[in-house]
Order: sequence, then structure tokens, then C-alpha cells
Amino acid sequence: MPELRRDLITQKWIITGMRSKEKFLESLNPFQKKTTNGCFFCEKNEKNTLPEIYAIRKPGTQPDTPGWQVRVVPSKAAAFKIEGDIGKEGHGIYDLMNNIGAHELIVETPQHVKNICDLPIEQIVLVLKVYQIRLRDLDNDDRLRYGLIFKNQRPKSPYRIGHSHSQFAALPLTPKILKEELTSSREYFAYKERCLFCDIIRQEQRDVKRIIEENADYISFVPFATKFPFELFILPKKHNADYCAENESSLKNLAQILKASLGKISVALNDPPLNYVLHTIPYMRKKQGYWETIHNDFHWHIEVYPQMTETMGFESGSGFHIQPLLPEICAEILRDAK
Ligand SMILES: [Zn+2]
Ligand SMILES: [Zn+2]
Ligand SMILES: [Zn+2]
Repeated sequence: MPELRRDLITQKWIITGMRSKEKFLESLNPFQKKTTNGCFFCEKNEKNTLPEIYAIRKPGTQPDTPGWQVRVVPSKAAAFKIEGDIGKEGHGIYDLMNNIGAHELIVETPQHVKNICDLPIEQIVLVLKVYQIRLRDLDNDDRLRYGLIFKNQRPKSPYRIGHSHSQFAALPLTPKILKEELTSSREYFAYKERCLFCDIIRQEQRDVKRIIEENADYISFVPFATKFPFELFILPKKHNADYCAENESSLKNLAQILKASLGKISVALNDPPLNYVLHTIPYMRKKQGYWETIHNDFHWHIEVYPQMTETMGFESGSGFHIQPLLPEICAEILRDAK
């Protein structure tokens, strides 16, 4: 059973115990044969995944058979397990708990397409809708505190992870990074009575030079102080804390800006691996004491991280990020990409 353990010094929870000793030792063997016989995310290979949890599919077609457009299956290497209880306990001075939660893979297309930006806008809209459906579904489970949508895109991978997919983790606690964002936006709101993110959007629109794309509902830009080169933020221009509250026409514009922004990264930077995360409000649980103003002070967003550099020792030791290229230059390079 995977476990959550808390580091007392940094107060960070870590996830551990998903992998067996045998599997790990096996992976060190250079002669180990990697299986490339067919991608199990592709249509017609449905039987090679765990049974599907949800799919948008043609009427009349059966689960785990062809005929789907977007398909959700449990992760085989799940960092979280849905059965059992949280079992929070102490071990001497340490805290640990069972990894209750869900870990799902959202397969974005039946075809072997590697980059989400190569999918048609209508297909990306379906993916964005499935994000909402899965987030809402796990909101019904009271043990869970946060639903995190994220993506590890590996276009150059020869294995099935090359097939465009996102991941969804429903967690028994709110991630520390989210808590920090929630706290700083609440403090900003308490002081200025305005949403921090709305103010950032206005500043970016005044400065112009870090903007990559803008449409009726969304803006994407390189933040003023990026942690990593070519990092991007995508935000709805109309204030909204909850991603699940976005309607069909808004999701269309989100699909458009996501496709355009990620397309620029792919063209300008020679198709690098990248990650993105979607930060929306936590699941609202009564006894958790979430603040009254959360719908006013938080603003959902997507953060995109192309992987251009290795993390340096200085960063992991100090928490300072060194970023040799000015954010304005990163933005210029992306904006100029056709
Ligand atoms: Zn495939
Ligand atoms: Zn806002
Ligand atoms: Zn965020």
C-alpha cells in the first residue's frame, strides 16, 4: 500500500511505496527488454488497460471496446488507492497516512497523437470537459480534499507514454503549493479587496511584452518572475475560482489558447517534454474551515512547464531559482513562433 509521509522540517508530504524492490532492481538491468509491442492507449488495445472508469463514446458501444473519443482508466502505477480509510497515525515523532485517493489516466485521443496541441480544437474541448467531469465526480467522496489535473507530455518517447494523455489525482489533502497560493491570494485580497490574479492580468495587459496569446476569455503569458525558462500561465480573464464552473463556450476558447500556446512551445523549442498543472479551488468540506472569501480571492489557472534544464543543486538547496533568460525574451521567442 502506498503511503503518505510528512517531512517534519519542510512540512511537506511525500508519496512513497508504489514500487516493489523487485521491480526497481529489474529496471536497473540494462538488458531488460522494454515492451514496445503496441501502445495500450490506442484504439483496439482497450483490453490492455485496467477497466475504464469513464469514456465519451459513440452510443451503443460497450466499455473497453473501440468507439470512444476520450477514455479514462485507472493508473497501473497508482500513487493513490481508492479503497480503505485514511488511517492517519503517528510513528514516534513522524506522521504518516494511507494514500487514499484516485489516480486516473485521461487518454485524450484514440489515435496515436503525441502532442495535445496537434489535436483539433473540438477534441481538446472534450478533454477539458472530461477534466470537469472527473473533478466533480470525486468531489462526492468526503475523504478527498483536492483534485489535481496534470500532464507529463513526452512526445519523443517511443513507449505508450508518448500517446497524449493527462492525469487526474484526487488527494486526501491539499498540496502545499496550492495552500501557499491560496494563502497569498487570501492575504492580498484581505489587504486590497481585489483578486491577486485579476490584478496580475491587468498588469500584464498594461506591460504587453510577456503576453503570448489572448482571446475573448483567456490570456497566456510568461510570468514576471519565472522559476523555469519558458514557463507559461494561462488564466480566464473573467474572475472565477472554480474551473468546473466554466461553460461550453469558455472551454472552446480555453482549447484554442491551450493549442496555440503549446503549439508555440513545440515549434520554438523543438518539441520539448513538458508538464502542466491545473490549479482550481479545493473540494469545499464543511469542517475544514476554508475561508469565506475563497470564491473572491482565488482564481483558477493552468501553469505550463517546458522541461529545458536540469534542476541545479543550488535550487534544491536554497529554493532560489536561477533563470538565465529574461522572461520578456522567453515571451518574445514564443510569440514569434509560427
Ligand atoms: Zn497510442
Ligand atoms: Zn480573479
Ligand atoms: Zn498555481
